[in-house]
Amino acid sequence: MDLVPNEKFYELFTEMIDCMTDMDNFERERLVKVLIKLSELFRISKGVTEFYVNETKEKLGEGEKLVDFDNGKGGPAIIERRYITKAQAVIKGTIYRPEDEEPLSEYDLQRLDIVVRSLLSFVGRNRLASAIETLGFYDDSGFKNRRAFLRQVDLLYGQGRLCGNYTAMMINLRHFTIINQDIGRKNGDIVLKNFYKLIAAIADSDGIVSRMGGDNFLALMRSELLEHVLTILRGVPIYYDKENEKRIMVYARAGIFKVPEDFSFEASSEIMDKVLRAYQAAKQSDSETISYYSESMGVKRDSEMRIQQLFEPALAKKEFKVYYQPKVDVDTGEIIGAEALCRWFHDEKLISPAEFIPVLEQSNDICRLDFYILDVVCSDIRRWLDACIEPVRTSVNLSRKNLVDIDLLRHIIDIIDRHRVPHQYIEIELTETTTDVEFRVLKRIVSGLQDEGIYTSVDDFGVGYSSLNLIREIPWNVLKIDRCFLPEDDEDESSVTSLMYRHVVAMALDIGLECITEGVETTKQIEILRANHCKHAQGFIFDKPLPRDRFEKVLSRHRYDLTEILK
Ligand code: C2E
Ligand code: MG
Ligand code: MG
Repeated sequence: MDLVPNEKFYELFTEMIDCMTDMDNFERERLVKVLIKLSELFRISKGVTEFYVNETKEKLGEGEKLVDFDNGKGGPAIIERRYITKAQAVIKGTIYRPEDEEPLSEYDLQRLDIVVRSLLSFVGRNRLASAIETLGFYDDSGFKNRRAFLRQVDLLYGQGRLCGNYTAMMINLRHFTIINQDIGRKNGDIVLKNFYKLIAAIADSDGIVSRMGGDNFLALMRSELLEHVLTILRGVPIYYDKENEKRIMVYARAGIFKVPEDFSFEASSEIMDKVLRAYQAAKQSDSETISYYSESMGVKRDSEMRIQQLFEPALAKKEFKVYYQPKVDVDTGEIIGAEALCRWFHDEKLISPAEFIPVLEQSNDICRLDFYILDVVCSDIRRWLDACIEPVRTSVNLSRKNLVDIDLLRHIIDIIDRHRVPHQYIEIELTETTTDVEFRVLKRIVSGLQDEGIYTSVDDFGVGYSSLNLIREIPWNVLKIDRCFLPEDDEDESSVTSLMYRHVVAMALDIGLECITEGVETTKQIEILRANHCKHAQGFIFDKPLPRDRFEKVLSRHRYDLTEILK
């Protein structure tokens, strides 16, 4: 005897299928209602579906158990279905029925089995769709990713809402490495997450915030929300331990692109491109942490690309020349060293280092240039030695980008030795570092150079992130004080700059570092150096960086006539 009337069964079954086929608008509540009605029809006491990522998880019982229906009447399982998908996931369905109910007919059991199988196939498919969503549009830490950002851009554009209404931005947390050092990586991760949540809460449901790796975020939001976000970017306290009220101030840099009304949208990645350009500008600026995209950035980008393209042939054609700027003893006028500075002559025009060095630093081209310069310097020193011109210790600038080269030390020494240049004639100038990884590498490189008798100096000390740790922990030979520390002629002796200059020099000398001041231009400044016992100077007062032949002449004179210069 069949318990369930055919008509009623098909009515409910069709409704169940109807709820499940439209995946995007899946009506969970309606489905649950239908399932309950079906359960009542078959007098089922309990129905459970289970999902496990694989069989191991199934054995461990670590999966999702969904009790679809349970009226508490208990009873034995009458249907048990278990499937393993191609992707090794396990999907199970079990139906229970009270013992005191009359047993189901074969036909009823078959119909119930169809219900279970349909339901399981739906559960599997639904889980798969969410797995695809997770894999495709989230990163490993659960942040939305770049693809999710592009999808949202496409969606809004398709709906005709993007242009004129939305603003995109690239956000980077400032000094996040230092935050990590301060509060530990785990707390750092919490800060990232909470910062993300904060911005995401503002960006609202039709905007998006996604992570680009590390502490970089991409955001898209309605333009009227921008002001609110900006106040956060300018500095916001973020909790990392709410229980103990522990929080840290977080500041961000951002590149912003307001999508104009008349924007000719070609691809969603174009928006990202513009945001990145704006962000680059914010990154390069010393004063502005927020930068808006403008068409001129496109022009700048073009000129940067030109430099990148010209670099390779220019290197082959030897368009890069080494200029030498003397370093001088301020008491005797004696030339105690020189700095090799790069000049690029292209089509008879001079391109300044300020223009091309930052561009070459965006790629690793700068490393090739640095090695080229070192090579030329070594060959010049060799020539001078062979011509019995006593060389001076010559410093070569090495971009921090070189620190990723694990064989950096050997590469430097190989070049110097290939030209048979005694090591004491070479000094390597490096600038300060911000990250702890770089710091460790820097320490290894500087110690290695020291062991080889090659001098090292901290360049531009005072600009950027002057860390006293850098001075304490790394065995430098020379501290090059940047000209921003050097007091101006009309500056009072008690001005902050004057005081800092005095103490920086004293500190350097006390811990046994040679000390040189860069950018010395006036007689008064020479006096300041002397008064503060900074023995060495480099600057226009003596000479600008000179082409090799002019420098040779200066070199053979050995010294500057101080009475002449200081007149
Ligand atoms: P830097 O290493 O700090 O070099 C000193 C800069 O100060 C040079 O600028 C020099 O011409 C300038 N300078 C020297 N004396 C004075 C002065 O009295 N007054 C003023 N106002 N400026 C003075 P330059 O040659 O334009 O180089 C700029 C920067 O480009 C260098 O700063 C260095 O960071 C970088 N650079 C130059 N050549 C190379 C290179 O071969 N490799 C790398 N990685 N960087 C280089
Ligand atoms: Mg330098
Ligand atoms: Mg410098």
